[in-house]
Amino acid sequence: MEILSPREVPLGGLRAMTVRRTLPQRQRTFVGAWCFVDHYGPDAVPVLGGDPQGGMVVPPHPHTGLQTASWLFTGEVEHRDSAGHHAVVRPGELNLMTAGRGISHSEYSTPDTTVLHGAQLWLALPDADRQTAPAFEHFVPEPVTGDGWEARVFLGSVLGSISPVRTYSPLLGAELRLRAGTSLRLDVDPSYEHGLLLDSGSLTVGDEALKATELGYLEPGRDAIEVTAAEDALVLLLGGPPFGEQIVMWWNFIGRDHDEVAAYREEWQRLVESGTADDGARFGLPQDDPMAALPAPALPTARMLKRG
Ligand code: MN
Repeated sequence: MEILSPREVPLGGLRAMTVRRTLPQRQRTFVGAWCFVDHYGPDAVPVLGGDPQGGMVVPPHPHTGLQTASWLFTGEVEHRDSAGHHAVVRPGELNLMTAGRGISHSEYSTPDTTVLHGAQLWLALPDADRQTAPAFEHFVPEPVTGDGWEARVFLGSVLGSISPVRTYSPLLGAELRLRAGTSLRLDVDPSYEHGLLLDSGSLTVGDEALKATELGYLEPGRDAIEVTAAEDALVLLLGGPPFGEQIVMWWNFIGRDHDEVAAYREEWQRLVESGTADDGARFGLPQDDPMAALPAPALPTARMLKRG
């Protein structure tokens, strides 16, 4: 097992929350099509005078060429996007936003949220599908349970549970909760690589230890993953066949080369500065958003390289 340790990254503006990012890393871009793993909390979210102070405050910002999967353990997040979706993201419910050719969205923890705890995950779209229309899907998996464990399979299938959510490449995404002393054998597709993000507790994978906040990577070629919890454990299991394409990932964009990503940035900046989208524009803005759109940072001075 390859251990990917998180680095702390501030998210959003002045009162930004800090997230633990385990993907991408210098040595690893993907687990299947999963290309971004941000993990946060549990964080107390103080609320003063009804204004969110801390918590998640991410004003409208763009995405291209990817899907975002929001998965919460505690708290609620309000989502608005330029494709007209307005939703509340709740624990145990998958909210899958397809950016496709271009979308913008905002995310704010709700005023009732006192503790925020969850993960934001990105999926790269294959080249053949990355210009698809923006979309937003909501799915609540029925938990499956056994002796000392409970699983919510939000994408793909494992432990006899199948998610009906359509994906653009074969994928696995599931939340696993194991009580202390529980061992569980997960039958998996040998063509898949896997990542186990341990939120909390203590986990052994085969005979190797995984610590809380680490992402353990397992290469393809195994038909089962055996996990044992020494303490109560909360785990996200991610998987998919190796993505097999190279991408350029910068800020909130995924493209295939430097020039394409630079053009996305320029188009977003035009919208931020003018405040109105032209007909046929790649990006629009969420309606009635309480905050102004986020300008993109400056492009790196060197050309961005493909990775993966
Ligand atoms: Mn986003």
